[in-house]
Amino acid sequence: MSLRHGREALAIPGPSVFPDRVLQAMHRPAPNIYEGEIVDLTETLHADLKRVARTEHDSAIYIANGHGAWEVALANTVGPGDTVLVLESGTFAAGWGAMGAALGVKVETLEADFRDPVDPAAVEARLRADVSREIAAVLVVQIDTASSVWNDVAAIGEAIRRSGHPALYMVDCIASLGCVPFEMDAWGVDVTVAACQKGLMTPPGLSFNFIGPRAWEVHEQRERVPSHWDWTRRCRSDVYYLQFGGTPPTHHLFGLRAALDLLLHEEGLEATWGRHAVLGQAVRACTERWCTDGPLELNVIDPAHRSDAVTTVLTPSIDADALRAHARDEHGLILGLSIGTDNGGFRIGHMGHLNPPMLLGALATTEASLRSLGIPFESGITAAIEVIAEATPTGAGR
Ligand SMILES: *Cc1c(COP(=O)(O)O)cnc(C)c1O
Repeated sequence: MSLRHGREALAIPGPSVFPDRVLQAMHRPAPNIYEGEIVDLTETLHADLKRVARTEHDSAIYIANGHGAWEVALANTVGPGDTVLVLESGTFAAGWGAMGAALGVKVETLEADFRDPVDPAAVEARLRADVSREIAAVLVVQIDTASSVWNDVAAIGEAIRRSGHPALYMVDCIASLGCVPFEMDAWGVDVTVAACQKGLMTPPGLSFNFIGPRAWEVHEQRERVPSHWDWTRRCRSDVYYLQFGGTPPTHHLFGLRAALDLLLHEEGLEATWGRHAVLGQAVRACTERWCTDGPLELNVIDPAHRSDAVTTVLTPSIDADALRAHARDEHGLILGLSIGTDNGGFRIGHMGHLNPPMLLGALATTEASLRSLGIPFESGITAAIEVIAEATPTGAGR
């Protein structure tokens, strides 16, 4: 018997759930792309994107997914013969580095376990040891969506500054922008990479580079940059058409406008961070119980580095694909599949347009599937309920 015939619940770490208002904003005829509304709207998007990334500097919008924005950041700053230092904490920084290798860049990796964050002291030591200043850029991911490790971007930035090394600091915030605190300028980040389909609640297709002054200096010294990716053409041209290197992604821009209205002007960025913090705490309260005993295990060992956007649960001795299939086919819940680990597992996305009924529904339904399959675990849903109850004011309506 299947119970899945209501609205399917997506609990994967991207794409996240799209607000109806974002979808409705996209349901309209094609606009004039030469002048008028779309041109003005794009200007408001840049202003608001920079508010989300907490930077006074530049933003560029690309018609691409996150992988595209990775390549943009590299193609504008490094090339054959340059070296980048990849700070591992999962699979995504390594994937970004591999893209550099394909561009002829030498990739050095500061290796770490899939279950631990980047160690800022190790970054400082590695940069101090680079006396000939070979390393042109340091690449890190704020929240690694595979491992669910949450790196301390501020502390790593501080370590880079302390080392006195001039390498650019480039951060992938694809899974974390609009979910958790990020301060591009205050934390000394030179390039921020993001995409629209996770915390920014917009169907996949747009991605972003935010560019600080030190990154511009490096960029301006490069002899060759692929013209379609070129930051200068995107950011320094008065011609609207060149901002997108061609036709603008009209409907994505309308959708993003609606998403940023929700994020910045309705809820507020800091309130959004606060909501993710409470929901993340609820996920941890629940999943930590699941993992006290038995076959389930939280991937991230240090509780302080378990993220507020995604949670990776390892299942070394059970078939996680069977669990996911059961949740999907019998209960209408889509869980994320595990990537980057041989241990098996699943992931729960808790980013973006998400509230307690959605989250508690996903957690409780996962418990129902675990039970249906006869997998032993301690129930954690009450602990999640307690977190939600304690975070919201009491007394009103009594
Ligand atoms: C999703 C994600 C990516 C890849 O983005 P795509 O849009 O799938 O190309 C890269 N890095 C992180 C941290 C992500 O969460």
